[in-house]
Amino acid sequence: MSQTTETIFSKIIRREIPADIVYEDDLALAFKDVHPQAPVHILVIPKKVIPKLDAATDDDTALLGHLLQTVKKVAAQAGLEKGYRVVINTGDDGGQTVHHIHLHILGGRQMSWPPG
Ligand code: AMP
Repeated sequence: MSQTTETIFSKIIRREIPADIVYEDDLALAFKDVHPQAPVHILVIPKKVIPKLDAATDDDTALLGHLLQTVKKVAAQAGLEKGYRVVINTGDDGGQTVHHIHLHILGGRQMSWPPG
């Protein structure tokens, strides 16, 4: 899959389909997951199309750091002071279904381990 392949997340970035957007800056967007798996379930994505973690290059290092910093901000904004889980599903075995890298923020309940 090429670096420029678009998914439904590109349409959300361009406001072509609705989403419950909770944060935006020049590089990143955060919106509520449409099928929440926890009381708080938010996705943080880069505006740049990176299909999955394995497709990130050395040029994306600062962007990947920015996404983690964005997770912190969004989690604080969502009131997750007791903690939360951050998940990046990667590839088929990782359970990735949307091929635009995204960080799941899951919170508002006790998480179990191991995940399914
Ligand atoms: P993954 O399985 O890690 O690729 O996660 C993709 C996530 O995107 C799933 O949790 C979906 O519920 C979520 N999702 C898919 N389409 C939308 C959408 N239009 N708005 C919000 N979340 C979505």
